[in-house]
Amino acid sequence: KDYLLEVKNLKKYFPVKKGIFSRTCGNIKSVDDVSFRLSKGRIMGLVGESGCGKSTTGRTILNLLEPTGGLVKFEDKIIFDVENKIKISRDEMLSLRRNMQIIFQDPYASLDPRMNVGTILTEGLKKHNIAKGKESLDKAKEILEMCGLDSSYITRYPHEFSGGQRQRIGIGRALSLNPKFIVCDEPTAALDVSIQSQILNLMLDLKDKFNLTYLFISHNLNVVRFFCDEIHVMYLGIIVEKGDSEEIYRNPQHPYTKALLSSIPVSHPSMKKERIRLKGVVPSPADIPFGCRFHTRCPYAKKICSEQIPEYREVCKGHFVACHLI
Ligand code: SF4
Ligand code: MG
Repeated sequence: KDYLLEVKNLKKYFPVKKGIFSRTCGNIKSVDDVSFRLSKGRIMGLVGESGCGKSTTGRTILNLLEPTGGLVKFEDKIIFDVENKIKISRDEMLSLRRNMQIIFQDPYASLDPRMNVGTILTEGLKKHNIAKGKESLDKAKEILEMCGLDSSYITRYPHEFSGGQRQRIGIGRALSLNPKFIVCDEPTAALDVSIQSQILNLMLDLKDKFNLTYLFISHNLNVVRFFCDEIHVMYLGIIVEKGDSEEIYRNPQHPYTKALLSSIPVSHPSMKKERIRLKGVVPSPADIPFGCRFHTRCPYAKKICSEQIPEYREVCKGHFVACHLI
């Protein structure tokens, strides 16, 4: 089977000094071992609490951060293979960048306040020699309208827009190069609830129209259920459970997934699940617990959980869980 994107044993560590007077260095293991394959046209959700490594995973895949380990392949082109010392050249990456874009969480911070919308939307077109002058401006106007904004807004500046409108511009910027794949890093998290679904619907329309594939990063399981075909649940740098969205919702197996799901308010009493409360806080990624890294917070933890790393088990087709209880 052909995958658009393949990620194998991805690692991203950030070195830290372990104390002012200490020369021993440690690592913040933001992404410790992440593998998945994504087929064309799919939407994969990457879910977990903040600090679990979701954004770092997205950025490392896009080669915006230098990887520490693992392999990423896009359409059979190796972007990097750290163990075999293979890395795409700068020129090749520049041309691949057209196909791999990102939408950021914070539309306030991600748009340059000194650039008007026309400049923002034509920047990539010029950089990649796709269009310039009037042609690029016409394309920018077209993109604005596709994103639900009036083409006359082209001369306005980011501060003249609402948060939702700004995110539409951010989406337009990602789309301007006709990409195949977009990392969506919590694109609606900074927006009012009433605006969120408008933006998500726009993204679904654009996906169908342009045959896009999304990696959708979120801490909001309600949003992910609505939006994604499959879900990968991340905890402290690794995937602890993965499967099709509905399967994960109906049949969650990992205690962490269950806890995340049980904290969502349900609309109907028959859907009521037992509320699972987690102990303590997420441990530091500079000091990851041995064995199952969730054991310091898991209500079901047993002796083996702090001694052995649980392997993935397939509970039913395509549904994988890493837990000693399963
Ligand atoms: Fe909890 Fe043990 Fe399963 Fe980890 S392996 S999730 S600590 S029961
Ligand atoms: Mg993040």
